[in-house]
Amino acid sequence: MTSTERTTALESIAAEVRSCTRCRLSTGRTHAVPGEGSPDTEVVFVGEGPGQNEDQQGRPFVGAAGGLLTELIGSIGWQRDQVFITNVVKCRPPGNRDPETDEMAACAPFLRRQLEVLDPALVVTLGRYSLGTFMPGARIGQVHGQTRAVDPTTGARDAIAFAMYHPAAAFRQLSLKETMREDMTRIPDALIGARQGRDSRATTEPDPIGRTEPAVAAEAITTVEPPAVPQTASVEPAGAPDTDLAPAFAAAPDVEPVPEPTLMPADPVEPEPIVPADSLADDLTEVLASVDMHAIPHEPPPETDQMRLF
Ligand code: SF4
Repeated sequence: MTSTERTTALESIAAEVRSCTRCRLSTGRTHAVPGEGSPDTEVVFVGEGPGQNEDQQGRPFVGAAGGLLTELIGSIGWQRDQVFITNVVKCRPPGNRDPETDEMAACAPFLRRQLEVLDPALVVTLGRYSLGTFMPGARIGQVHGQTRAVDPTTGARDAIAFAMYHPAAAFRQLSLKETMREDMTRIPDALIGARQGRDSRATTEPDPIGRTEPAVAAEAITTVEPPAVPQTASVEPAGAPDTDLAPAFAAAPDVEPVPEPTLMPADPVEPEPIVPADSLADDLTEVLASVDMHAIPHEPPPETDQMRLF
């Protein structure tokens, strides 16, 4: 799926959301809030539901909590329009009450379809209702800042979830703002881990979404290439990333034993004529004198790979 196709698909879903009457939340809304952001992103933030400002503007996270979310995204060098932001329910629950089970169930197909189109590597959950969708049974106080594999039935077919408090919680408990800031700093590494997991699980099967071009992500994340390992070395490079590649190595087929060579009787060897030591020293001096030492190439130091995710 190309970027243009993803944009078209997301706009089609948004149009359905805006005219949706599947649940009672449609009756009290000013505007439905489908979500917004880059169609090419690898990172999707999922909140709970629109608040008053979002309902007025038809855009997600534009009130005070949205301002904090935008600030937190900026704190790691990303920009808000480089990710996709949406909610579990797309219409405002009256009085900002919690969404009810049947309302979330009615709205779930929209989020699932958005995730199928975006195919994110990382889903950042904001608050307990989003957490319950992507990490069922988890408690935010215990898992914030942590990752879990996402159930593909959510629509995110190969992603990990990263748990965060809802930004609005930081206005009720000020200490959570610093907690959220610390959790946010872990997101770039979580994205890199998610990518490595996807790469290690990649098979020869064609991508059902059909995305071929690289997606986007974070700013100024630096990784250093591990030093090259000689072909004959049996020791893995120190500091190599811990990925799921190990099982692949473990499953590698056994190596066929090399047959022993058949020994043949040796032909009689003529002894080499003995060269006088002085003659060898003269030859060596002559060779060294003819070599331009500055012309001998030398190996450059390993380069640092600036992994610019955005
Ligand atoms: Fe439709 Fe979702 Fe809005 Fe309910 S909350 S009316 S299911 S878009």
